[in-house]
Amino acid sequence: MTDAALPIVELPDGTRLHSPSVADIANRLGWVKQPKLREYDVCVYGAGPAGLSAAVYAASEGLSVVVLEREAIGGQAGYSSLIENYLGFPGGISGRELAERARQQAVAFGAELLLMRDGLQAQFTGNRIRTTLNDGTTLVARSNICATGVEWRRLGLAREDEFIGRGLFYGAGTSEAPTCEDLEVFVVGGGNSAGQAVMNLSAYAKHVTMLVRGPSLSATLSAYLERRVTQQPNVTIRTCSRVTALDGTDSLTSIRIDDARTGTVDSVETERVWRS
Ligand SMILES: Cc1cc2nc3c(=O)[nH]c(=O)nc-3n(C[C@H](O)[C@H](O)[C@H](O)COP(=O)(O)OP(=O)(O)OC[C@H]3O[C@@H](n4cnc5c(N)ncnc54)[C@H](O)[C@@H]3O)c2cc1C
Repeated sequence: MTDAALPIVELPDGTRLHSPSVADIANRLGWVKQPKLREYDVCVYGAGPAGLSAAVYAASEGLSVVVLEREAIGGQAGYSSLIENYLGFPGGISGRELAERARQQAVAFGAELLLMRDGLQAQFTGNRIRTTLNDGTTLVARSNICATGVEWRRLGLAREDEFIGRGLFYGAGTSEAPTCEDLEVFVVGGGNSAGQAVMNLSAYAKHVTMLVRGPSLSATLSAYLERRVTQQPNVTIRTCSRVTALDGTDSLTSIRIDDARTGTVDSVETERVWRS
């Protein structure tokens, strides 16, 4: 079998999809639905925490609500391994579970969720907002809420696209962490998502190095996470450090790190880098 046919996704009815897109899978699972109403009171773009919260509160007030999401429910929060600073969850909650609970709550109040839909362009006419979606559908609503969040900041390096999924990952490593056993892992970033990635990956990896551009962690990382990462025995924090090159043949094998404090440039062997 060629690489192009992988990965294979097996559906509950036994059908196998070879190298499907997320849209193909969602379609086959019957998750891509048409809007039920000709017009909504509120149309929310983005099903991250902000969009789902808006949907819960609008629908709970009896408004007709539709939420459009172009990728997956949960937005960035869906990538979080453990959210510890969300009100009401003293023991923390995984981003995936938080998103699923929010989805259920929105649906219980009558909000409609349309997946794999991208709001492209909106027009204000006749006291209504008419939005054109990526599949050509037009949605009409009395009000729109754009809760479209942010996208991952890329490293901006040569060969970055080539190594995505082949040693270079984005996020907190929620699903990939168990594949890092005995590996030297690097996490690029100094914010809370990077702190979570470090904690998550260090439970499996031999060693994790956190590369932070700034001179300290305190400016970007919450105090509770800073305490955790600095106390983790198999974690090293390198401040004033940036990845400036990625190298390898079929997959990532080494990176170059520039240290602004010492002016040195190191080439370091590693098979796993996370941009968080
Ligand atoms: C790994 C990780 C860990 C984190 N951990 C924490 C934590 O512990 N505590 C904390 O407070 N915060 C944490 N954060 C930050 C937190 O997840 C974000 O602040 C939060 O998700 C922002 O919510 P949002 O709804 O505004 O946007 P997002 O979560 O970014 O959601 C926006 C959604 O809009 C969709 N979208 C974008 N454009 C369109 C369009 N045109 N049409 C339709 N849909 C669209 C996107 O696909 C996405 O699903 C973490 C973030 C990451 C990445």
